[in-house]
Amino acid sequence: MSDCIFCKIATGEIPATVVFEDSELVAFDDVNPRAPVHVLIIPKEHLQTMNDPGPEHEALLGKMMLTAARIAEERGVSEGGYRILVNCNADGGQEVFHLHMHIIGGRHLGPMA
Ligand code: 5GP
Ligand code: ZN
Repeated sequence: MSDCIFCKIATGEIPATVVFEDSELVAFDDVNPRAPVHVLIIPKEHLQTMNDPGPEHEALLGKMMLTAARIAEERGVSEGGYRILVNCNADGGQEVFHLHMHIIGGRHLGPMA
């Protein structure tokens, strides 16, 4: 989608600190990290929210979860723990409408808000 920030990060049009990329996914550091580790994983395909994937995206979503766990390991937070988060729409606090998964760790996060 032409005016989507995360599509532009996926194509390299907007710079980001990319930590992983393959044909389907890109992972990059959040520009406003809420913890020592704060990485976002996006599908290259523009899906707006968590309401949009269908059965054809089952493998993609599984790959996002496995990639998140691998990045957590690489960043050294696997043992200490981390949080994987997907915000959806207004009540979920979603600000960027291109599906993304947050990986947050490196400090004690406390209970869910
Ligand atoms: P949401 O609230 O939609 O789940 O999270 C959006 C996240 O994207 C926020 O944590 C915000 O800091 C991050 N973000 C917004 N714009 C950019 C950007 O241009 N580059 C990067 N790396 N992160 C961004
Ligand atoms: Zn997009």
